[in-house]
Amino acid sequence: MPSCENCGRKWQWKAIVLKTLKLTNKVNCPYCGKPQYIIPKSRKKTAVFSFLPAFLIISSGRIFDLGVLGVILLAAILLIGTLSLYPFFMKLSSEDKTFQP
Ligand SMILES: [Zn+2]
Repeated sequence: MPSCENCGRKWQWKAIVLKTLKLTNKVNCPYCGKPQYIIPKSRKKTAVFSFLPAFLIISSGRIFDLGVLGVILLAAILLIGTLSLYPFFMKLSSEDKTFQP
């Protein structure tokens, strides 16, 4: 679980998921109030996270001959699964490093 770069306290899983749902990477630390940026630990892992669910849905839809409802259900399960694992692959930074190489 990531911890605040300013005060060093670990953030709760819930805090990160809730902030992620707001589609922003800038989050104020719940402990010290300083703005922190949620950044991926490694670009490779993030790429897997965005690619894998789509791949699984498409391939299992073909293999198991799921209907539209089955595919939607599977997509929802995968979305929840991805979100629950997401905080473990993130870290926090005091600066926005998203667009740096
Ligand atoms: Zn803090």
